[in-house]
Amino acid sequence: MASKIKIYFLGTSAQIPTAKRNHSAILLNYEGENILIDCGEGIQRQFRIAKLNPCKITRILISHWHSDHVLGIPGILSTLALSGYNKILYIYGPRGTKEFMRDLLRVFNFQKKYEIVVEETSGGKFYETKDFYLESERMHHGIPTNAYSFVIKDKFRLNKNKIQKSKLPFGPLLKKLKEGKDIIHDGKRYKSKDFVYEEKGKKVSIVLDTLMNERIAPFVKDSDILICDSSFSSENNEEAREHLHLTAKQCGEIAKKSKSKKLILTHISQRYENNLKELLADAKKEFKETHIAHDFDELVIR
Ligand SMILES: [Zn+2]
Ligand SMILES: [Zn+2]
Repeated sequence: MASKIKIYFLGTSAQIPTAKRNHSAILLNYEGENILIDCGEGIQRQFRIAKLNPCKITRILISHWHSDHVLGIPGILSTLALSGYNKILYIYGPRGTKEFMRDLLRVFNFQKKYEIVVEETSGGKFYETKDFYLESERMHHGIPTNAYSFVIKDKFRLNKNKIQKSKLPFGPLLKKLKEGKDIIHDGKRYKSKDFVYEEKGKKVSIVLDTLMNERIAPFVKDSDILICDSSFSSENNEEAREHLHLTAKQCGEIAKKSKSKKLILTHISQRYENNLKELLADAKKEFKETHIAHDFDELVIR
């Protein structure tokens, strides 16, 4: 059985937080990994309210250095220091992230008892295990900005029932079958394809602040979950373009074009708080399976 991906929406506001919405932050949990995508102001209390432990964070991915996406970083780093965080904390972001982190650590001079490794990425895979990888793509938002994908790879698995019936012994022979090699046991030939099936991977893509651009759809192609900056409705198309943001309708277009399965709108401006239907309807013109994120929403992908 494949492990679950859990997504926690810890902040879903646009530039200005509201009573209902905190600055941007999304936590993605998969096995031992807890990846925080953006770290808006107030994130520590959001962790508390959601009953999540910030000490379990393994990596922080920064979309860009506008304040609504990063003001929570010094606070959380300081809390980790006070809470005996004892892992290496990996922080990834677009060009400029190393310099900003250096400045930030100089200004907020807390007792740092753990190691922080900062890496810049501007396209392609930047972290990979045998099971999953993290990928970035450059966006268009006036300053260096990344979109991110978390991708669980396709896997080959043994059909346990068939293995049991075959009475093949556990060990290197089964390993070979799983690797796609046919084997011979007690003079009998066993074909790999009869015992092995492919389990499709999963993909979660997060596209925060950006102007519509041609790189988005190919990057988020076939996402199971596509989370998108929906700062404006297409009523305010001009304003969206001026501020280098997406409209809800454009999010829908991206979801459709990329053949994603589910679209979640986030980065919700206070102007739509009492009229979320407008954003939803705008996106649904293009893509039916659209939802709007609220703070503390949780999503499980099996
Ligand atoms: Zn923003
Ligand atoms: Zn921004």
